[in-house]
Amino acid sequence: MALSPMMSKYLETKKEYPDCILFYRLGDFYEMFFEDATEVARELELTLTGKDCGLEERAPMCGVPYHAAETYINRLVQNGHKVAIAEQMEDPKLAKGLVKREVVRIVTPGTITSTGVLADDKNNYIISIFYIDERFGLATCDISTGDFFVTELVSIRELFDEIQKYQPTEIICNHAFEISGISLEELKKKYNITITSLDNTYFSEKNSTDILKRHFAVSSIEALGLSEFLDATISSGAMLRYLYEMQKSSCAQIVGISAYKNGDYMIVDTSSRRNLELVETMREKKKNGSLLGVLDKTNTAMGARMLRGFLEQPLVNKERIINRQEAVAELFDRYIDREELREYLNPIYDLERLMSRVVTKNANTRDLLSLSASMKMISPIKEVLKTFESEEIKKTNNNLDRLEDIIDIIDRAINEDSPLSLKEGNIINTGYNSEIDKLRQAKTEGKNWLASLESEEKEKTGIKNLKVKFNKVFGYYFEVTNSFKDMVPDYFIRKQTLTNAERYTTDKLKDLENIILGAEDKLNSLEYEVFVEIRDEIAKNVNRIQSSAKAVAYIDAICSLATVAYNNNYIKPEINTTGIIDIKDGRHPVVETMLSDDSFIANDTYLDQNKKRMSIITGPNMAGKSTYMRQTALICMMAQIGSFVPAKQANLCVCDRIFTRVGASDDLASGQSTFMVEMTEVANILRNATRNSLVILDEIGRGTSTFDGLAIAWAVVEHISNIKLIGAKTLFATHYHELSELEGTLPGVNNYCISVKENGDNIVFLRKIIAGGADKSYGIQVAKLAGVPDSVTNRAKELIEELSSADIATRAREIAEATPAVSKRKPVKKMSEVEAGQLSLFDTINNDTIIKEISEIDITSMTPMDALNTLYALQNKI
Ligand code: ADP
Repeated sequence: MALSPMMSKYLETKKEYPDCILFYRLGDFYEMFFEDATEVARELELTLTGKDCGLEERAPMCGVPYHAAETYINRLVQNGHKVAIAEQMEDPKLAKGLVKREVVRIVTPGTITSTGVLADDKNNYIISIFYIDERFGLATCDISTGDFFVTELVSIRELFDEIQKYQPTEIICNHAFEISGISLEELKKKYNITITSLDNTYFSEKNSTDILKRHFAVSSIEALGLSEFLDATISSGAMLRYLYEMQKSSCAQIVGISAYKNGDYMIVDTSSRRNLELVETMREKKKNGSLLGVLDKTNTAMGARMLRGFLEQPLVNKERIINRQEAVAELFDRYIDREELREYLNPIYDLERLMSRVVTKNANTRDLLSLSASMKMISPIKEVLKTFESEEIKKTNNNLDRLEDIIDIIDRAINEDSPLSLKEGNIINTGYNSEIDKLRQAKTEGKNWLASLESEEKEKTGIKNLKVKFNKVFGYYFEVTNSFKDMVPDYFIRKQTLTNAERYTTDKLKDLENIILGAEDKLNSLEYEVFVEIRDEIAKNVNRIQSSAKAVAYIDAICSLATVAYNNNYIKPEINTTGIIDIKDGRHPVVETMLSDDSFIANDTYLDQNKKRMSIITGPNMAGKSTYMRQTALICMMAQIGSFVPAKQANLCVCDRIFTRVGASDDLASGQSTFMVEMTEVANILRNATRNSLVILDEIGRGTSTFDGLAIAWAVVEHISNIKLIGAKTLFATHYHELSELEGTLPGVNNYCISVKENGDNIVFLRKIIAGGADKSYGIQVAKLAGVPDSVTNRAKELIEELSSADIATRAREIAEATPAVSKRKPVKKMSEVEAGQLSLFDTINNDTIIKEISEIDITSMTPMDALNTLYALQNKI
């Protein structure tokens, strides 16, 4: 038995797209066969049927109606599939033999443009990775907006940080990446994305350069600013080729490419991004409750995406920060202008995504009308902006094109009340095209003729309710209700019988029908043609329109920052290059919005590169340590995106990186041992922090035994505060009160605590940071506040008293056990060499015990042998 011709054709196509689900158009349905069918039927809960395919067993089959296909495609793509769509390329009625079918588009998670799937305020990125010799060339693109960025990285960690920053839905890579030790399966799971490894022809230097030159119509890669980005050039070429293949289009919405180096923006690693809840909350992954949630008062989707982009990439160049800050400041000061601008911004639709639809030929009349309505807002915006003085606003205003020619075409041509369908006419205004007007007139006249024919026949036959009607299947007909059936004359030809009426035609009606329908068919297809011409004409202006869209986005983002600054009482921070962070009355931008009016207690922060490099912060749980530290990091971050900050006054240096490490129990990372995760992050900080970084450490060392934890925390403080090693500005919250001993011993380290007031058995949180260490943990009081029953807290109090008296003995035992082991550890020794002259935890404890022992020796009663043995024993303890 042989496969039927249709099925073998199907399998031929399927072979070309092995990793896709093939939607195969058969009449009014898209059908899937074999494994595709079983898989899709299961995932989308469709009925699995079968189709004769020529073989003994029927092929499993399932299908979806073509007009509802988008929803099904979207669901499959959101589940991580790629869907190839094969259309009928000819009218089945006219086709000789098998209908020709071709794949016209492949929808993948990173290339989908369906508005039903894309979040308005978030880009949908696809990343292309070219791996070679431990380096990564990276290209990131959002095809729905045309954004295209490239960079190069030198470590897996940097790569992961970049992936976390963009949160792509799809990655493509070269085969070498796959064998570089990274498991694609793990990546897929970790980021919940689709990954495709492509063959080397995608990643050849020659192919990539050629594609880029052709796409951007330039004669050299240098012209694109990519001369120092060979690896990224290769990944970009691969990206473009992949996008062409998926979209089956020239992707003209990608009008530019911008390259950046890893140090061009503040580096915020994956866990810091999460911990600081910059764009989404840690637990629920929601924007509400994150910094972005507070800062985003944008009026357009483009502005919202741009603001998110600001937060994803804080600036590190003082001049750029100040320029943006000045723009925000001017809008902050000009309340009326700002409000007026926001009113003009409000009705602006997503120009970027609309334009992508235009260039990919997916836009309909409503999209064009939305374009025009949005573009009309540009002129009034320009009027407001023209009196502004900030350089950035002036520059942006220059980039804003009034686009009056485009508005004019759309308004003259497109009917405001056009139907959704593009092929049923009534989409082009009368007066735009003379041919359309003529046909339309013929159609109207035909309708008049029909009306006179109707009255003529009514009179002739005497049938009072004789009516000419129309439907798509039968065309025009006379309808006669049963009660008048007897009066129907001979020249009426019966077309159709209904229960209560009969339908007829006549020769004259047939003639008129031909004229009218002929004109209508012609009219509909001409209207469609004219529409397509207009759409193509607009597509040619993609550069102008996209850059205006970016300018609108920028104004919107800046307006949002100014509005939030105004509403939330922020101030403009000064930016310094002297390494000082000096915040007076700083507040946490998110927590303050969640508390009732003014109940947030403001606090100062002062850190510099000398005597105040590191603050050790103690205080009971719930006192506000994390809030305080995060607020400092967030204020610095806000300043570096050009925003105002929640404080009374602030003078801030530019941080190259912000690190945050949150203690084990606050971490959500699952699967791995939490202590291991914590230590990996600490290692990252120790390796990468610089003198210009801001480090936030919250309860590190909590994931292991008290003694190990304290030792690690201690050693970390020594290392970070050491100016020869790192010397980063650091806030270190800890419940190890022992660390307070470091003040005065380690240069640059100072103690702070968050004050509480004792009130008998209870405590009151004052939330104020003050100099000095906390003397108590107040654990019992906090437990009481949390509702732990009195019987338990009272028992705990008893135990504390018992344990405290035993404490000294226990510590002595711990020290005796720990000392030899620790002193044998080579790395610790190495560290203490570097830190020569500095005290370490173990030294302190050893010295104390040994000194105690020495002072207790009764030398006068010792024999020389006793003395020697004692000396020997003492030496052993070192
Ligand atoms: P800790 O890290 O010391 O355990 P947190 O920083 O988590 O404490 O703070 C606990 C809670 O106290 C926060 O959820 C917040 O509601 C409140 N809080 C913290 N700081 C302040 C402040 N400065 N003003 C008012 N409330 C605060």
